[in-house]
Amino acid sequence: MQRQPLHLTTSAYDRLIAACREALPREACGIMTGEPDTGKIVDVTAIANVHPSPATAFAFAPDDWVKAYYRMQKSRQSLLGFFHSHPTSPPHPSTADELGIHSDDLFLSYWIISLQQPLQPELQVFYYMNGCFQPARWAIAD
Ligand SMILES: [Zn+2]
Repeated sequence: MQRQPLHLTTSAYDRLIAACREALPREACGIMTGEPDTGKIVDVTAIANVHPSPATAFAFAPDDWVKAYYRMQKSRQSLLGFFHSHPTSPPHPSTADELGIHSDDLFLSYWIISLQQPLQPELQVFYYMNGCFQPARWAIAD
């Protein structure tokens, strides 16, 4: 399937990187939301990571997740994807990431930000299709 690159605004990108840095040494996690028609990501909301091993895995805090969802609906945005960071490893899905997927909704994207090189965050995005993560393209567009 050929797809357009996923787009996010400069401010969404900046929020994403900031959220990942703020969470260190834990993994950051949260949702990517935006315009339902164009699929452009305009906002990023961090959700507290309550995983027992937060440096290497993540789990959404349920109450935070509900709040983020309502906030998204209030601003008339759609859920477009999920993000999390890898504080010390490359931006590739881990086994825990594979196990954490519960839906193969083709409209959701999975963003992984590596802070392995703190001054040069590395961002990769995936779709989950046919039982595995497939890399996708992304670009900044304002
Ligand atoms: Zn991961």
